Amino acid sequence: MIAEGVKKDFRERDNISINSRAWAEVNLKNLHHNVVELQRILPRTCEIMAVVKADAYGHGSVQVSRYLNQVGVLNFAVATLEEGIELRERGIKGNILILGYTNPKDIQWVIRYQLIQTVLDYEYAKKLNQYNKKVKVHVKLDTGMGRLGEEIKNIENIINIYRCRYLDVCGTFTHLSVSDSLEPSDIVYTDQQINSFYKVIGTLKLKKISPGKIHIQSSYGVLNRPELNCDYARIGIALYGALDYENIKVKVNLCPVLSLKSRVVAIKNIKRGQEIGYGRNYIAKRDGKIGIISIGYADGIPRTVARQGIYCLINGSRAPIIGNVCMDQLIVDITKIGNVKPDDIAIFIGESENERITVAQVAQRYDTISNEILSRIGHRIKTAHLLM
Ligand SMILES: *Cc1c(COP(=O)(O)O)cnc(C)c1O
Repeated sequence: MIAEGVKKDFRERDNISINSRAWAEVNLKNLHHNVVELQRILPRTCEIMAVVKADAYGHGSVQVSRYLNQVGVLNFAVATLEEGIELRERGIKGNILILGYTNPKDIQWVIRYQLIQTVLDYEYAKKLNQYNKKVKVHVKLDTGMGRLGEEIKNIENIINIYRCRYLDVCGTFTHLSVSDSLEPSDIVYTDQQINSFYKVIGTLKLKKISPGKIHIQSSYGVLNRPELNCDYARIGIALYGALDYENIKVKVNLCPVLSLKSRVVAIKNIKRGQEIGYGRNYIAKRDGKIGIISIGYADGIPRTVARQGIYCLINGSRAPIIGNVCMDQLIVDITKIGNVKPDDIAIFIGESENERITVAQVAQRYDTISNEILSRIGHRIKTAHLLM
């Protein structure tokens, strides 16, 4: 349950954002729904570790984490030391794991802010151990991603990490590289990653070394490998309800959390043959009407968007983006939409009447994933966190 004072605080800040030139609305009720839905799928003993890196994928990491705290989520993952410090300074409770590199020289900050650092490999462990101060860590194992983590073939190195005197190892994890694919060869690859991880865990236990809490899955790992029984699941994109449903095995009902909105700030009549925007990139085929929208590539709308056939929604109708997107504005064709006025809302992600634009749709047109589209959302976009 959310306290009245908190509700009021949310509402007052929301008004500033919603009146602005471009903003994101974050539906906290949908976020809560997604938490409940994901907990339903996870084994009873597996806790959600909410991945709130990159400003919670554009959703506002402090507000999202604060809300998650209130609905009982007590484990978080960030990418950087700065992201972790910000959460602690703003009062976020529970475990905060830094997934990426922290300069060993800065390890005092990890300790001071009661964060948990990922051990990237044995070399890194030795450096952390030199500071003679006990630091909480999770050990990462590379089972086939080829990114961070000590390689599982180096079992001696792995064992030595746990023997470092100043490392307080409270977890061990790995990351799957193709858990979002249902291709048979990818399924085999994921099986191999999981099996080799558990083999190392078995070896550690034989040597009476505790691996601490174990975790393997991120969002697609949870939805395609629901049978795994880990202590945590590191969930990002599923929490934000922006999955690509084509690649999911488990039936799950997740709601989109973020809408991205802007405004019509001016309207112009144009003549056939008139040239619009930078590079005279668009030439009107007939007389018509355009709307200038106050959102641009500095806000996260990719510059060449018009070539991908992308539109926004104005008064429930599709308004195609024309010409190149500018840094702070873009232009849409509103010839076929009746009665558009300045200050009308243009929706880039979200719903309007019977139309809906999902992050996954936008990502597909760009040949990328929802995670990239969301994390591109720029710093000028203020977020309104709504408890609707
Ligand atoms: C970003 C990240 C996640 C979250 O991935 P989603 O697909 O968004 O759930 C999980 N684990 C690691 C190591 C990550 O870097």
